[in-house]
Amino acid sequence: MSNSEILALEIKARIESVIGQIDDPVPLHRPSFEGKEWDYVKDCLDSGWVSSVGTYVDRFEQELAAYCGVKRAISVVNGTSALQVCLILAGVRSGDEVLVPALSFIASANAVSYLGAVPHFVDSDLNSLGIDVRALEGYLSKIAEITEDGCFNRNTGRRIAALMPMHTFGHPCDMDGLAIISEKWGIPIVEDAAEALGSKYKDNHVGCFGVAAALSFNGNKIITTGGGGAILTNDERLADKAKHLTTTAKIPHKWEFDHDQVGYNYRMPNINAALGCAQLEMMPDFLRRKRALARRYAEAFSDMEGCTFFSESSDRESNYWINALILDNHGEVELDEILNFLNKNNIMARKAWKILSNVGCYQEMPSMKNRNAKILSNSIINIPSSQCLF
Ligand SMILES: *Cc1c(COP(=O)(O)O)cnc(C)c1O
Repeated sequence: MSNSEILALEIKARIESVIGQIDDPVPLHRPSFEGKEWDYVKDCLDSGWVSSVGTYVDRFEQELAAYCGVKRAISVVNGTSALQVCLILAGVRSGDEVLVPALSFIASANAVSYLGAVPHFVDSDLNSLGIDVRALEGYLSKIAEITEDGCFNRNTGRRIAALMPMHTFGHPCDMDGLAIISEKWGIPIVEDAAEALGSKYKDNHVGCFGVAAALSFNGNKIITTGGGGAILTNDERLADKAKHLTTTAKIPHKWEFDHDQVGYNYRMPNINAALGCAQLEMMPDFLRRKRALARRYAEAFSDMEGCTFFSESSDRESNYWINALILDNHGEVELDEILNFLNKNNIMARKAWKILSNVGCYQEMPSMKNRNAKILSNSIINIPSSQCLF
């Protein structure tokens, strides 16, 4: 047997010691509908309010804001559109650059591109899986300069208009460190909190650290609305702007149609918000089960050689959306061989993303060298994480 096969067998045995013997394929993450989902969705159908008008949208926004401890939440059609609008709120314009982690889902970069802006990829911290604060500070000292009109990239001449930390798999990044960078260089923060509903950094929910933050309620996230997302902000004026922009920029009137700018049809339909209200009621229970499952995995892998279970650091509380193993000696074992073995044995494990600076359409974008992001991309194994497993 090869080293990879030995490791794969051992990983399978330890996963089974946590989730029981595996007969049918175990997905990475599947949604749970154990609350009032049927009642609320049926209510929409019975009343006819399934689309862009209805009471569940307001209710979902209020309950979501309260849950996250922010002043306002604006629900939208998906997490990518939420990110796009957050960037607009932060003042990003066509031709600007936005600092985006190289290790992220493609949506982070796409949201920047939709505005005609340019994603500029930055490296990860091996300890948080988020942006590497020290490396970023060193990098900006080399390439950036502060002028009256903001922070500029000396190499490209473009303005660096926002910094987009992403909380990988629900693990909060070093927000204090990023706040210092944001302050020093005058670059506003927009959080990609798509994976991190319920996660906390030093007792505060993520999503409240920057100008605005984006959440996703896609089918594979910790709660789902089918498809959906939300913009979080503590700034009432920006919240009103977000609501206006995402509802076609219509000037309120009983019968006149007038719009004061090019807006977007990004509003979350009522039927999706109904699902969201029911899912949000389950959050405390989901979080408890996610964290308990992670604790079991952490124990099961604690004495394992060759890989490490990724755990939260002491000042942070992760929602453990998707659990991750990190191979100790990547390169010496074949990640693909391990994944092949696990998937053949009904464990639907997968890699983290290919780093964005290597994805075809983004290869020519400005970028750090992303040494750590490459290591993580070649050594992370995501393992089954559904709340129903606990
Ligand atoms: C899921 C996700 C998004 C986008 O969410 P959608 O709702 O699928 O558009 C953005 N960023 C990250 C990191 C995500 O995981």
